[in-house]
Amino acid sequence: MVCLAVKSGGRSAFGEWKSLFATLMPDLDVRDWYDPALDLPAVNYVLVWEPDAGRLAQMPNLKAILSAAAGVDHITSDPTWPRHVPIIRMGGEETAAQMADYVQWAVFSLLREAPRWHVAQKDRQWVRRGMPPVRLASETRVGIMGLGHLGAAVAQCLARAGFQVSGWARTPKHCIGVECHAGVEALPAFLQECNMVVCLLPETPQTRGIVTYEVLSQLKKPSGFINVGRGSLVVEADLLRALQDETLHGAVLDVFPTEPLPASSPLWDQAGLLITPHIASEASRRARARYVVETITALESGKAVALRYDPERGY
Ligand code: NDP
Repeated sequence: MVCLAVKSGGRSAFGEWKSLFATLMPDLDVRDWYDPALDLPAVNYVLVWEPDAGRLAQMPNLKAILSAAAGVDHITSDPTWPRHVPIIRMGGEETAAQMADYVQWAVFSLLREAPRWHVAQKDRQWVRRGMPPVRLASETRVGIMGLGHLGAAVAQCLARAGFQVSGWARTPKHCIGVECHAGVEALPAFLQECNMVVCLLPETPQTRGIVTYEVLSQLKKPSGFINVGRGSLVVEADLLRALQDETLHGAVLDVFPTEPLPASSPLWDQAGLLITPHIASEASRRARARYVVETITALESGKAVALRYDPERGY
Protein backbone atom coordinates (compact mmCIF):
# COMPACT_ATOMS: atom_id res chain seq x y z
CA MET A 1 0.00 0.00 0.00
CA VAL A 2 1.25 3.48 -0.90
CA CYS A 3 1.62 5.77 2.13
CA LEU A 4 1.17 9.58 2.03
CA ALA A 5 1.98 11.74 5.09
CA VAL A 6 0.19 15.11 5.12
CA LYS A 7 1.39 18.29 6.79
CA SER A 8 -0.64 21.12 5.41
CA GLY A 9 -3.05 23.72 6.76
CA GLY A 10 -2.44 22.86 10.43
CA ARG A 11 -3.44 19.80 12.44
CA SER A 12 -7.18 20.47 12.24
CA ALA A 13 -7.12 20.29 8.44
CA PHE A 14 -5.83 16.71 8.43
CA GLY A 15 -9.31 15.19 8.87
CA GLU A 16 -10.55 17.03 5.80
CA TRP A 17 -7.56 15.90 3.70
CA LYS A 18 -8.07 12.31 4.86
CA SER A 19 -11.73 12.23 3.87
CA LEU A 20 -10.97 13.82 0.46
CA PHE A 21 -8.29 11.20 -0.25
CA ALA A 22 -10.63 8.42 0.97
CA THR A 23 -13.04 9.40 -1.83
CA LEU A 24 -10.46 10.08 -4.53
CA MET A 25 -8.01 7.21 -3.90
CA PRO A 26 -9.44 4.76 -1.36
CA ASP A 27 -6.37 2.49 -1.30
CA LEU A 28 -3.99 5.36 -0.37
CA ASP A 29 -2.75 5.05 3.23
CA VAL A 30 -3.03 8.66 4.47
CA ARG A 31 -1.14 9.53 7.66
CA ASP A 32 -0.85 12.65 9.79
CA TRP A 33 2.65 14.18 9.72
CA TYR A 34 2.16 15.11 13.39
CA ASP A 35 1.21 11.58 14.51
CA PRO A 36 3.89 10.60 17.07
CA ALA A 37 3.45 6.97 15.96
CA LEU A 38 4.09 7.81 12.27
CA ASP A 39 6.32 5.05 10.88
CA LEU A 40 8.88 7.18 8.97
CA PRO A 41 10.33 4.33 6.82
CA ALA A 42 6.78 3.47 5.63
CA VAL A 43 6.19 6.91 4.12
CA ASN A 44 6.37 7.04 0.28
CA TYR A 45 5.00 10.53 -0.38
CA VAL A 46 4.60 13.70 1.67
CA LEU A 47 2.30 16.63 1.05
CA VAL A 48 3.98 19.43 2.97
CA TRP A 49 4.15 23.10 3.76
CA GLU A 50 7.27 24.08 5.76
CA PRO A 51 8.35 20.56 6.79
CA ASP A 52 10.13 20.42 10.15
CA ALA A 53 13.88 20.65 9.49
CA GLY A 54 15.57 17.25 9.23
CA ARG A 55 12.37 15.15 9.12
CA LEU A 56 12.32 14.42 5.37
CA ALA A 57 15.85 13.04 5.64
CA GLN A 58 14.51 10.45 8.11
CA MET A 59 12.17 8.93 5.48
CA PRO A 60 14.36 6.44 3.55
CA ASN A 61 11.56 5.24 1.23
CA LEU A 62 10.32 8.63 0.11
CA LYS A 63 9.51 8.68 -3.64
CA ALA A 64 8.45 12.34 -4.00
CA ILE A 65 7.89 15.49 -1.95
CA LEU A 66 4.65 17.20 -2.98
CA SER A 67 4.68 20.90 -2.15
CA ALA A 68 1.36 22.21 -0.85
CA ALA A 69 2.02 25.46 -2.77
CA ALA A 70 3.59 26.65 -6.03
CA GLY A 71 6.87 27.62 -4.36
CA VAL A 72 9.41 25.13 -2.99
CA ASP A 73 11.67 27.42 -0.94
CA HIS A 74 9.87 26.29 2.24
CA ILE A 75 11.30 22.80 1.49
CA THR A 76 14.74 23.60 0.04
CA SER A 77 15.55 26.05 2.85
CA ASP A 78 16.17 22.94 5.01
CA PRO A 79 19.81 22.05 4.19
CA THR A 80 19.08 18.38 4.93
CA TRP A 81 16.28 17.90 2.36
CA PRO A 82 16.98 14.67 0.45
CA ARG A 83 18.21 15.89 -2.95
CA HIS A 84 17.68 12.54 -4.68
CA VAL A 85 13.92 12.78 -4.03
CA PRO A 86 11.94 14.79 -6.63
CA ILE A 87 9.96 17.82 -5.45
CA ILE A 88 6.65 18.32 -7.30
CA ARG A 89 5.07 21.79 -7.21
CA MET A 90 1.36 22.34 -6.65
CA GLY A 91 -0.56 22.87 -9.88
CA GLY A 92 -3.67 21.67 -11.66
CA GLU A 93 -6.49 23.17 -13.66
CA GLU A 94 -8.13 25.12 -10.82
CA THR A 95 -4.85 26.82 -9.85
CA ALA A 96 -4.38 27.98 -13.46
CA ALA A 97 -8.05 28.99 -13.87
CA GLN A 98 -7.96 31.10 -10.69
CA MET A 99 -4.77 32.83 -11.82
CA ALA A 100 -6.24 33.52 -15.27
CA ASP A 101 -9.39 35.04 -13.68
CA TYR A 102 -7.32 37.23 -11.34
CA VAL A 103 -5.03 38.52 -14.09
CA GLN A 104 -8.02 39.22 -16.32
CA TRP A 105 -9.57 41.27 -13.48
CA ALA A 106 -6.25 43.13 -12.92
CA VAL A 107 -5.73 43.91 -16.62
CA PHE A 108 -9.29 45.21 -17.06
CA SER A 109 -8.92 47.20 -13.81
CA LEU A 110 -5.88 49.01 -15.20
CA LEU A 111 -7.45 49.41 -18.65
CA ARG A 112 -10.53 51.08 -17.13
CA GLU A 113 -8.63 53.16 -14.51
CA ALA A 114 -9.90 51.32 -11.40
CA PRO A 115 -7.20 52.79 -9.06
CA ARG A 116 -8.40 56.33 -9.93
CA TRP A 117 -12.11 55.51 -9.52
CA HIS A 118 -11.35 53.85 -6.19
CA VAL A 119 -9.78 57.07 -4.84
CA ALA A 120 -12.56 59.26 -6.29
CA GLN A 121 -15.21 57.07 -4.65
CA LYS A 122 -13.45 57.25 -1.26
CA ASP A 123 -13.40 61.07 -1.62
CA ARG A 124 -17.06 61.13 -2.82
CA GLN A 125 -15.86 62.85 -6.01
CA TRP A 126 -17.72 62.61 -9.34
CA VAL A 127 -14.66 63.24 -11.56
CA ARG A 128 -15.18 62.87 -15.31
CA ARG A 129 -12.65 65.39 -16.62
CA GLY A 130 -8.93 64.92 -17.10
CA MET A 131 -9.06 61.16 -17.51
CA PRO A 132 -7.18 59.60 -20.44
CA PRO A 133 -9.34 58.40 -23.36
CA VAL A 134 -10.89 54.95 -22.93
CA ARG A 135 -8.76 52.22 -24.50
CA LEU A 136 -10.12 49.00 -25.98
CA ALA A 137 -8.81 45.54 -25.08
CA SER A 138 -8.23 44.96 -28.80
CA GLU A 139 -5.91 48.00 -28.93
CA THR A 140 -3.91 46.85 -25.91
CA ARG A 141 -0.98 44.43 -25.94
CA VAL A 142 -0.40 42.53 -22.70
CA GLY A 143 2.93 40.78 -22.19
CA ILE A 144 3.35 37.78 -19.89
CA MET A 145 6.80 37.36 -18.31
CA GLY A 146 6.94 33.60 -17.72
CA LEU A 147 5.02 31.29 -20.07
CA GLY A 148 4.92 28.24 -17.80
CA HIS A 149 1.99 26.34 -16.27
CA LEU A 150 0.28 29.57 -15.15
CA GLY A 151 1.63 32.06 -17.71
CA ALA A 152 0.44 29.97 -20.68
CA ALA A 153 -3.08 29.69 -19.19
CA VAL A 154 -3.16 33.46 -18.54
CA ALA A 155 -1.97 34.21 -22.09
CA GLN A 156 -4.74 32.07 -23.63
CA CYS A 157 -7.39 33.64 -21.38
CA LEU A 158 -6.33 37.21 -22.29
CA ALA A 159 -6.25 36.34 -26.01
CA ARG A 160 -9.83 34.99 -25.72
CA ALA A 161 -10.84 38.26 -24.00
CA GLY A 162 -9.68 40.19 -27.08
CA PHE A 163 -6.25 41.47 -25.99
CA GLN A 164 -3.17 41.29 -28.17
CA VAL A 165 -0.83 39.00 -26.22
CA SER A 166 2.95 38.59 -26.09
CA GLY A 167 4.97 36.24 -23.94
CA TRP A 168 8.54 35.98 -22.72
CA ALA A 169 10.26 32.88 -21.33
CA ARG A 170 13.76 31.44 -20.92
CA THR A 171 13.35 28.97 -23.79
CA PRO A 172 11.43 29.34 -27.12
CA LYS A 173 7.67 28.67 -27.01
CA HIS A 174 4.87 28.22 -29.54
CA CYS A 175 1.52 29.38 -28.14
CA ILE A 176 -1.39 29.93 -30.54
CA GLY A 177 -2.28 33.63 -30.72
CA VAL A 178 0.71 34.69 -28.60
CA GLU A 179 3.78 36.55 -29.91
CA CYS A 180 6.54 34.57 -28.14
CA HIS A 181 10.02 35.84 -27.20
CA ALA A 182 12.80 33.97 -25.42
CA GLY A 183 15.96 34.84 -23.53
CA VAL A 184 17.55 37.94 -22.02
CA GLU A 185 18.48 39.38 -25.43
CA ALA A 186 14.79 39.36 -26.51
CA LEU A 187 13.55 41.21 -23.40
CA PRO A 188 13.76 44.79 -24.81
CA ALA A 189 11.82 43.87 -27.99
CA PHE A 190 9.17 42.13 -25.85
CA LEU A 191 8.80 45.10 -23.48
CA GLN A 192 8.71 47.70 -26.25
CA GLU A 193 5.71 46.09 -27.97
CA CYS A 194 3.60 45.83 -24.76
CA ASN A 195 1.31 48.32 -22.98
CA MET A 196 1.03 46.15 -19.90
CA VAL A 197 3.21 43.44 -18.44
CA VAL A 198 2.17 40.62 -16.10
CA CYS A 199 5.03 39.10 -14.09
CA LEU A 200 4.57 35.34 -13.61
CA LEU A 201 8.20 34.32 -13.22
CA PRO A 202 9.54 32.11 -10.42
CA GLU A 203 12.11 33.54 -8.02
CA THR A 204 15.64 32.49 -9.07
CA PRO A 205 19.06 34.22 -8.95
CA GLN A 206 18.36 35.35 -12.58
CA THR A 207 14.88 36.76 -11.94
CA ARG A 208 15.36 38.42 -8.53
CA GLY A 209 15.09 42.20 -9.02
CA ILE A 210 14.44 41.80 -12.77
CA VAL A 211 11.69 44.45 -12.84
CA THR A 212 13.53 47.78 -12.63
CA TYR A 213 12.76 51.38 -13.62
CA GLU A 214 14.64 50.67 -16.85
CA VAL A 215 12.33 47.72 -17.61
CA LEU A 216 9.13 49.62 -16.77
CA SER A 217 10.18 52.65 -18.83
CA GLN A 218 10.37 50.54 -22.00
CA LEU A 219 6.62 49.77 -22.06
CA LYS A 220 4.30 51.57 -24.48
CA LYS A 221 2.33 54.35 -22.77
CA PRO A 222 -0.06 54.47 -21.00
CA SER A 223 1.56 51.46 -19.38
CA GLY A 224 0.55 49.04 -16.65
CA PHE A 225 2.31 46.43 -14.52
CA ILE A 226 0.91 43.43 -12.62
CA ASN A 227 2.96 41.26 -10.29
CA VAL A 228 1.61 37.84 -9.35
CA GLY A 229 4.98 36.01 -9.36
CA ARG A 230 7.03 36.88 -6.28
CA GLY A 231 7.64 40.22 -4.52
CA SER A 232 11.42 39.88 -4.83
CA LEU A 233 11.21 40.08 -8.64
CA VAL A 234 10.51 43.83 -8.44
CA VAL A 235 12.79 46.63 -7.24
CA GLU A 236 10.21 48.39 -5.08
CA ALA A 237 11.88 51.83 -5.12
CA ASP A 238 11.96 51.69 -8.95
CA LEU A 239 8.27 50.77 -9.15
CA LEU A 240 7.35 53.67 -6.84
CA ARG A 241 9.48 56.08 -8.85
CA ALA A 242 7.90 54.91 -12.12
CA LEU A 243 4.38 55.43 -10.73
CA GLN A 244 5.28 58.82 -9.24
CA ASP A 245 6.75 60.28 -12.43
CA GLU A 246 3.99 58.68 -14.60
CA THR A 247 6.47 56.47 -16.46
CA LEU A 248 4.04 53.80 -15.33
CA HIS A 249 0.33 54.65 -15.41
CA GLY A 250 -0.95 51.96 -13.06
CA ALA A 251 -0.03 48.75 -11.26
CA VAL A 252 -1.59 45.81 -9.42
CA LEU A 253 0.52 43.90 -6.88
CA ASP A 254 -0.48 40.61 -5.24
CA VAL A 255 2.95 39.55 -3.90
CA PHE A 256 5.55 41.36 -1.77
CA PRO A 257 9.05 40.67 -0.44
CA THR A 258 7.63 40.80 3.12
CA GLU A 259 4.16 39.35 3.65
CA PRO A 260 1.94 40.56 5.19
CA LEU A 261 2.91 43.91 3.65
CA PRO A 262 3.94 46.07 6.65
CA ALA A 263 1.54 48.91 7.55
CA SER A 264 4.51 51.31 7.20
CA SER A 265 5.06 50.43 3.50
CA PRO A 266 4.85 53.44 1.15
CA LEU A 267 3.06 51.19 -1.36
CA TRP A 268 -0.22 51.48 0.57
CA ASP A 269 -0.54 55.20 -0.21
CA GLN A 270 0.78 55.18 -3.76
CA ALA A 271 -1.66 56.59 -6.32
CA GLY A 272 -2.33 54.36 -9.33
CA LEU A 273 -1.65 51.19 -7.38
CA LEU A 274 -4.04 48.39 -6.34
CA ILE A 275 -2.89 45.93 -3.67
CA THR A 276 -4.26 42.44 -2.92
CA PRO A 277 -2.97 40.13 -0.13
CA HIS A 278 -1.45 37.21 -2.14
CA ILE A 279 -4.83 35.83 -3.14
CA ALA A 280 -4.44 35.54 -6.92
CA SER A 281 -4.59 31.76 -6.95
CA GLU A 282 -5.29 29.36 -4.13
CA ALA A 283 -7.07 26.28 -5.37
CA SER A 284 -9.62 24.57 -3.12
CA ARG A 285 -8.48 21.67 -0.95
CA ARG A 286 -10.56 19.33 -3.12
CA ALA A 287 -8.80 20.51 -6.31
CA ARG A 288 -5.38 20.18 -4.66
CA ALA A 289 -6.23 16.67 -3.41
CA ARG A 290 -7.26 15.74 -6.96
CA TYR A 291 -3.91 17.04 -8.28
CA VAL A 292 -2.01 15.08 -5.60
CA VAL A 293 -3.84 11.87 -6.55
CA GLU A 294 -3.13 12.44 -10.27
CA THR A 295 0.54 13.05 -9.44
CA ILE A 296 0.92 9.94 -7.25
CA THR A 297 -0.90 7.82 -9.87
CA ALA A 298 1.43 9.09 -12.62
CA LEU A 299 4.59 8.54 -10.54
CA GLU A 300 3.48 5.05 -9.44
CA SER A 301 3.05 4.07 -13.10
CA GLY A 302 6.46 5.49 -14.03
CA LYS A 303 5.14 8.52 -15.96
CA ALA A 304 6.80 11.95 -15.94
CA VAL A 305 5.02 14.83 -14.18
CA ALA A 306 5.18 18.38 -15.51
CA LEU A 307 5.75 20.47 -12.40
CA ARG A 308 8.91 18.80 -11.17
CA TYR A 309 11.32 21.21 -9.48
CA ASP A 310 14.74 21.30 -11.13
CA PRO A 311 17.44 22.39 -8.62
CA GLU A 312 19.77 23.32 -11.52
CA ARG A 313 17.26 25.73 -13.10
CA GLY A 314 16.03 26.90 -9.68
CA TYR A 315 12.30 26.34 -10.47
P1 NDP B 1 6.51 27.42 -14.24
O1 NDP B 1 7.78 26.87 -13.70
O2 NDP B 1 5.55 26.49 -14.90
O3 NDP B 1 6.86 28.58 -15.30
C1 NDP B 1 7.86 29.52 -15.07
C2 NDP B 1 8.07 30.30 -16.35
O4 NDP B 1 9.07 31.32 -16.11
C3 NDP B 1 8.59 29.44 -17.51
O5 NDP B 1 7.98 29.82 -18.72
C4 NDP B 1 10.09 29.77 -17.54
O6 NDP B 1 10.70 29.67 -18.81
C5 NDP B 1 10.06 31.23 -17.12
N1 NDP B 1 11.37 31.65 -16.61
C6 NDP B 1 12.05 31.17 -15.54
N2 NDP B 1 13.24 31.78 -15.41
C7 NDP B 1 13.31 32.67 -16.44
C8 NDP B 1 14.29 33.59 -16.85
N3 NDP B 1 15.45 33.73 -16.20
N4 NDP B 1 14.05 34.33 -17.96
C9 NDP B 1 12.89 34.20 -18.65
N5 NDP B 1 11.90 33.34 -18.30
C10 NDP B 1 12.12 32.58 -17.21
O7 NDP B 1 5.81 28.21 -13.05
P2 NDP B 1 4.24 28.51 -12.84
O8 NDP B 1 3.70 29.09 -14.08
O9 NDP B 1 3.56 27.33 -12.24
O10 NDP B 1 4.30 29.61 -11.67
C11 NDP B 1 4.98 30.84 -11.85
C12 NDP B 1 5.10 31.58 -10.53
O11 NDP B 1 3.83 32.06 -10.12
C13 NDP B 1 5.53 30.70 -9.34
O12 NDP B 1 6.92 30.53 -9.31
C14 NDP B 1 5.03 31.50 -8.15
O13 NDP B 1 6.06 32.38 -7.76
C15 NDP B 1 3.87 32.31 -8.73
N6 NDP B 1 2.57 31.96 -8.13
C16 NDP B 1 1.83 32.95 -7.52
C17 NDP B 1 0.61 32.68 -6.97
C18 NDP B 1 -0.22 33.78 -6.37
O14 NDP B 1 -1.29 33.50 -5.79
N7 NDP B 1 0.18 35.04 -6.51
C19 NDP B 1 0.04 31.32 -6.96
C20 NDP B 1 0.86 30.36 -7.66
C21 NDP B 1 2.09 30.67 -8.20
P3 NDP B 1 10.85 28.23 -19.54
O15 NDP B 1 9.44 27.80 -19.86
O16 NDP B 1 11.62 28.55 -20.76
O17 NDP B 1 11.53 27.32 -18.57
